Amino acid sequence: MSVTASGHSGSPASIVDSSTADLSWLEDVYKHFHQYPELSGAEEQTAAHIRQQLQFYQDKGWEVTPNIGGYGITAVLRNGDGPTVLMRADFDGLPVAEHTDVDYASKNSQLNASGERVPTMHACGHDQHITSLLGAMRILDDVRDKWSGTFIALFQPAEEASIGAHRMVSDGLANVIPRPDVCLAQHVIAGPAGQVYSAPGPVMTSSTTIEITLFGRGAHASMPDRSIDPVVLAASVIMKLQTIVSREVPPNKFAVITVASVEAGKANNVIPDSAKIALSCRFYDEALRKKCVDSIKRVVRAEAMAAGADRDPQFKFVGMLGATDNSSEVYDVVRPAFDEAFGEDSLRMEPWTASEDFSVIPKSFGCPYLLWTVGITPRKQWKRAEAANRLNEDIPTNHNPSFLPDLSSLPVSTRAAAVGVLSCLQATWEEPAEPLPRMGAVSPTDEEIDAVSVETSSVD
Ligand SMILES: [Zn+2]
Ligand SMILES: [Zn+2]
Repeated sequence: MSVTASGHSGSPASIVDSSTADLSWLEDVYKHFHQYPELSGAEEQTAAHIRQQLQFYQDKGWEVTPNIGGYGITAVLRNGDGPTVLMRADFDGLPVAEHTDVDYASKNSQLNASGERVPTMHACGHDQHITSLLGAMRILDDVRDKWSGTFIALFQPAEEASIGAHRMVSDGLANVIPRPDVCLAQHVIAGPAGQVYSAPGPVMTSSTTIEITLFGRGAHASMPDRSIDPVVLAASVIMKLQTIVSREVPPNKFAVITVASVEAGKANNVIPDSAKIALSCRFYDEALRKKCVDSIKRVVRAEAMAAGADRDPQFKFVGMLGATDNSSEVYDVVRPAFDEAFGEDSLRMEPWTASEDFSVIPKSFGCPYLLWTVGITPRKQWKRAEAANRLNEDIPTNHNPSFLPDLSSLPVSTRAAAVGVLSCLQATWEEPAEPLPRMGAVSPTDEEIDAVSVETSSVD
């Protein structure tokens, strides 16, 4: 792929800053989304509110398509010849009780998949992603005489469950929008408010979630000799799994294998007949992922054999996400535009060990992509924590009940979206000579695909 300037006059930042579009609504719209978060796949009111906001654009000629793969929505502005650039905003909340003191804190609750009522919160900042994309649309609409091409705003549900992007793609996204030449996304993170971070290469990990059932033989708790105790088996499996990263993975490579859930037994006087553990595994490197999954299977099977279990353990792959591996071609276009727009606040992004399903969309079209991040922590709070060497203790990360973006970062993420999109609209994107691999870095085995039941997973 090669990228050349297409001769538009004016830099992305100068064009964006020349806009006189009214953005006074940004904060109110953001606060509304923040107040009414909804769980993955149940974002009915959020989608309705986005559609209400989109009415303004529809009246100005944008094509709006709702209900793609559930509550997914696209809005397309065809503005003459030129590249097609897609930007995605995810819009689901989390089952977290908000613990902040702002007057727009969420008091919302919803029934989860098991029918329990749980509090909901935008603890990952997706409310800011929606609002920023709406704001960028307003800017790009306002300066449409200064660029040409096609801009697609994509609003995606169910990111936290890692199924939203897949659902939109498999529900025929490609029939609804033109093929993008490049896809963009942003995510808010803990960091000094208003800093914008970008980098080429792997910036977010792949994620593999595995549920393992270990079978033993139940017995009276007083007669362990009559049992094959799955609790003891689970304990030794968990300890032995710790040696994969420490003993089998090269010290300079990144891998995480976390046993995040253990379930066995209901009574103090009964040795149960099975135990269940759930693993969350993160990697940047696909070959290493495959090697570690093989090691996990080997360790679990060998421990079951050592315990004398007469039934093989069962492996269920409940979540699979590829790594977010930013294209250097897109980075080379967007980064200089960010440097001009944000000066010393445009910084190198450090790889983030969370995972994202955004890349499913560009991978489905075989096009390059970039995800960047924007800091949202009040600067004073950050400085104080940094000076006291207490960043871990005092700065709430995404998914924490106290995670609350500083409102000063909202115009920044909005401007970043507009500048990022415009920089890509000004570039020329050629069809790759060799098509990029579709569906990306993680290619699950047939066995894994058979076992995938993503409905229950949450891997962000
Ligand atoms: Zn999240
Ligand atoms: Zn998120």
